[in-house]
Amino acid sequence: MRTHTLVPSLLLLGALSFTAACSSGSDGSSGTASGAARPGAAPTPSPLRSVDPSKIKGLEIVSDSSEQSSCPFATSYPDVPGAEAMTAAMKKDVDERLAGFRSVVCEEESGGAEGRELNISHQFLVASGDVLGVRLSTQDHSGPGSGLSTRTYWYDGEAGAYRTALGLVAGDSRDAFFAALKDQLKGREGVDAAALDNTFSDPASRTAALDDMAFTPHGGLRVTFDRGEVGVPAAGTYMVTFPEETITPWLSAFGQRVQRQTMTPGSSLDLGAGHIPTPVTPTHTASGDDDTDCKKVTCIALTFDDGPAAPETATLLTSLARYDARATFFTVGQNVAAHPELVRAEARAGHEVGNHSWNHPDLTRLTPEQVASQLGRTSAAIKAATGKAPTLFRPPYGAVNARVKAATTLSPVLWDVDTEDWKYRDADKVARTVIDKAQRNDVVLMHDIHPTSVAAVPQILRTLTARGYHFVTVSHLRATL
Ligand code: ZN
Repeated sequence: MRTHTLVPSLLLLGALSFTAACSSGSDGSSGTASGAARPGAAPTPSPLRSVDPSKIKGLEIVSDSSEQSSCPFATSYPDVPGAEAMTAAMKKDVDERLAGFRSVVCEEESGGAEGRELNISHQFLVASGDVLGVRLSTQDHSGPGSGLSTRTYWYDGEAGAYRTALGLVAGDSRDAFFAALKDQLKGREGVDAAALDNTFSDPASRTAALDDMAFTPHGGLRVTFDRGEVGVPAAGTYMVTFPEETITPWLSAFGQRVQRQTMTPGSSLDLGAGHIPTPVTPTHTASGDDDTDCKKVTCIALTFDDGPAAPETATLLTSLARYDARATFFTVGQNVAAHPELVRAEARAGHEVGNHSWNHPDLTRLTPEQVASQLGRTSAAIKAATGKAPTLFRPPYGAVNARVKAATTLSPVLWDVDTEDWKYRDADKVARTVIDKAQRNDVVLMHDIHPTSVAAVPQILRTLTARGYHFVTVSHLRATL
């Protein structure tokens, strides 16, 4: 089969609604690929089918982030029981990129971030039958040629093996597949024929360039090239979509199973994991409204960002309940989607649930539409989990300006005491920072994605309770002052 039936779809990622509709990870990460779709571009591809991550048993989201504008990074990838080899591949990629970023930007002598930021977010492509597929989207402004890059990771439960994107195509069909891809890209605006030949002739650069492939709901295969891989960087991202009838004969047996699970997903995921931990969701309920009068007694508002996380958030809820303490959780949308039950437990226990964006970008670098999308999607996920939309948001890195404020009706919340707990993974140090620095009516910044921060909380509650402090939510503090 040759290329006559191919349907090209070349577009600039981020310029079309495709980004918001199907790629949770790329919201807010398309700032460098701005601009209108080129004239004559194919119609917007139909969005990929979305997966509900809360249905994946034993799922943990591995998050790391800072809250400091001089070292702004946020990374996340999923850890699914049974798919350890794939988790290891994602961890390796994320760890390498993060270590590179931190060594360049976050060292003492580096002079600060100077507009640099690293953001790695995840999106599930398929999670049913014996197939798992995840896309990681990386926005890295830290070096020349950097920008948005995406990679898909695949797990084959039948074989018990991690697969790269090229694993979707059968070995003996790859030459025909490469030739068809080249035909699709040749002659496109911004594509350099010599560079293209070079990319496709060398196996290593071919594997690196062909690292993002996923099926459309109609069974077509979409190949995404990062900016600069096959064309001039200014042209942005290139996509080629092969229709089902063209691509199916070229697929590996695994690729065919992924295609089937994309078109008609099974009801559950079974990767043959030996042991799937049973998550614990606390069931504490608040006893009525909080009648603490912060004009008369000493109040403090503990805030926990970047969660929810399993099992850390559940442990924290149990500690807070023991001291009848209320707190505010600034949750990240992609984690709310994975663990709505924990957000529900937060609300039921009388805590306040706030919005901390979908995937933790510096909002001041985004367009007003992207800010609205980051906050709007997260508020919708919180409302779906708790029945109540949030009224507060905490801007990642504390980065907020008039443009961000104008793009939302949510009220921004910064902090008075920064524990820097993302940097100091030491429960005793975190506890002592709060205990030493806290003053009446302060807002304290912590993160419930770190076990060390959660472990610091009993000491904080015990000591400050003995000093007469009452632990209230941010909205309660604001309302009673
Ligand atoms: Zn944060």
